[in-house]
Amino acid sequence: MSLIPKSHPRAKSLLIREKLVDGFDKGLVAKEGLLAQGRGEAFDYLLGEKTGKSSKRAIKAAAAQLLQAETPVISVNGNIAALCPKQIVRLSKQIKAKLEVNLFYTNKDRKQAIVKILKKNGAREILGTNPDFSTKLPGIDSARRIVDKNGIFAADVVVVPLEDGDRTIALRNAGKIVITFDLNPLSRTSQTANITIVDNVTRAIDLLIDEAKKLSKKNQNSLQKIINDFDNKKNLSENIIQIKNNLARRARIA
Ligand code: ATP
Ligand code: MG
Repeated sequence: MSLIPKSHPRAKSLLIREKLVDGFDKGLVAKEGLLAQGRGEAFDYLLGEKTGKSSKRAIKAAAAQLLQAETPVISVNGNIAALCPKQIVRLSKQIKAKLEVNLFYTNKDRKQAIVKILKKNGAREILGTNPDFSTKLPGIDSARRIVDKNGIFAADVVVVPLEDGDRTIALRNAGKIVITFDLNPLSRTSQTANITIVDNVTRAIDLLIDEAKKLSKKNQNSLQKIINDFDNKKNLSENIIQIKNNLARRARIA
């Protein structure tokens, strides 16, 4: 039971924090995941804790890209499993993507806890757990480069929510199209991905599912046009302007 009153002005954000702490207690989240959450919260605060226009544009491009993909894979880490397990499974079904548990800090028990919560939320097949199918992504150091042969290794489009910069760069170097959710528009992941959704994953994921449902009725040409018209660098600068405008507004009322 949450002790956060619904009337608290930042109730939603505090509930997200509570989910993550709960995920830590259940063995899903690494200590470092708590720090990543803290970094995310700071940027969410600067963004006004809402989904801006530029994030909506990135969500639309991501939905189009995922519908155009041949072998899309969603990479799941502890933070995602703690924050939005139901939605991540729903997204995988909506866009017909495989799910792969892929941890920055490899830990067998944590992996199993993540698999369990995904299954509880309706996932059928979860990759990344069978050592017979593991292989290595070139360009990053040992444990962090292990991926599933039939999953991320073979994917054309990979969704990596809350990912580290080194791995995003390695995925790009391996020829993957990378879509990420990252609240920090300046992170290396944000700057390196093909499509960066600068928003809290807990807000943006439902919007991505809805958009994918909507766009599933469009033909290939219209989807490709949405992808071609999207410019990630330009979009990221608009996210930064959103922060700047928000700060200016706050400075005026302070
Ligand atoms: P990079 O390695 O890409 O330069 P970093 O080292 O600062 O980034 P990491 O811990 O590697 O950070 O990656 C985690 C990222 O996830 C951070 O940029 C953080 O802002 C972001 N993040 C944390 N929580 C959320 C959330 N709920 N929704 C979206 N993004 C989040
Ligand atoms: Mg990092």
